[in-house]
Amino acid sequence: MAHIIESNLTDVGSLAFEADDPDGPVPAGVDLPRIERAVREILTAVGEDPDREGLLQTPARVARMYAELFSGLRQDPRIHLQRCFMEKYDEVVLVRDISFESMCEHHLLPFMGRAHIGYLPDGRVVGLSKLARVVEIVARRPQVQERMTETIANLLEVELDAKGVAVVVEATHTCMTVRGVRKPGSMCVTSAMKGVFRSNLSSRAEVMSLIYGDRR
Ligand code: ZN
Repeated sequence: MAHIIESNLTDVGSLAFEADDPDGPVPAGVDLPRIERAVREILTAVGEDPDREGLLQTPARVARMYAELFSGLRQDPRIHLQRCFMEKYDEVVLVRDISFESMCEHHLLPFMGRAHIGYLPDGRVVGLSKLARVVEIVARRPQVQERMTETIANLLEVELDAKGVAVVVEATHTCMTVRGVRKPGSMCVTSAMKGVFRSNLSSRAEVMSLIYGDRR
């Protein structure tokens, strides 16, 4: 079956604004004044004075920060997977150590780490940097690490029509290091396996050894 490869999605809401510049362009689709009011409320609720000098610009700064940290809500990662090239390459393609920062949806605290993506193409191959773009967009949403891992794997499986997809995400969660159980250095590892990497143990072992290499 011939694949029709074209892009009909638009890259909405890409953020070319400087998060700390109060005069910079306003990101589309984000109600900054509403966030500012909410941040003032939080400051007041914890017993602070939002009108003292050091806090005057804080609500505006936090509003723009959230617009940046959640910019992935207004972007469609699929556009980066639609420009494929046809290639008779039938070995695993792997990109390791894609760094990312995301936000835990339970505490609105950052978790950050690295994603490793491997796939076994079935004719359709994407530029390697596109995999990093997908991680970046998916990361910039409120979520849990498990869903982030699954979302990336599903995107690749569907959009690339790959024979297999393996996604491993390793991250530290600040909601576990700065509060609650306070376990600095703890690492959360999640994985999502699709296609042959799910059904075939030796294929899975191969991709996992590529991901972990000599670090195991
Ligand atoms: Zn959390």
